[in-house]
Amino acid sequence: MTAPTNKLRFATVWLAGCSGCHMSFLDLDEWLFELAEHVDVVFSPVASDIKAYPEQVDVCLVEGAVANADNLELALQLRQRTRMVISFGDCAVTGNVPALRNLWSDGDQASRQAVLERAYVELADSGAQHPHAPGIVPELLERVRPLHEVIPVDLYLPGCPPSAERIRAAIEPLLKGELPAMDGRAMLKFG
Ligand code: SF4
Repeated sequence: MTAPTNKLRFATVWLAGCSGCHMSFLDLDEWLFELAEHVDVVFSPVASDIKAYPEQVDVCLVEGAVANADNLELALQLRQRTRMVISFGDCAVTGNVPALRNLWSDGDQASRQAVLERAYVELADSGAQHPHAPGIVPELLERVRPLHEVIPVDLYLPGCPPSAERIRAAIEPLLKGELPAMDGRAMLKFG
């Protein structure tokens, strides 16, 4: 049995986004070593192969909008298991690029099927077909939604992606038990 530490239990989650927000997180470069002295990364697509979201997470950065059944299930689960949920990037904060589907689709079954047709057949370079094995493509939700429409969010960190400087400015105070000052253009500008 390992001894308890004072480190924050830290997670990052990738919902319907392009992973650009996670790439910006990796742009923190050498500061990631400093971060690692203060946190245990208990769940993240860039740090481990853990499949199940753990219990008792202190801070979670959530990239991406909520677009399908898998996104929704994970969002609900992480909210139950996390003290501070951060809406990470414009897709999580507003829906952004994934939510363009809402302009084109009525959300009914036929138009959701048309979205899949467009993605997997009409725009395919080769091997055009719908994925047909059960469970391969999670069911699309009627509408793509920003994270706060699905679960309560504690902090908004906009940007497409948020710059590494902005990510650090948001996280660093949390390591000292303080809240970041999320104001001004440097912290709140979209895009
Ligand atoms: S906010 Fe921008 S960079 Fe982040 S997941 Fe969405 S499209 Fe990608």
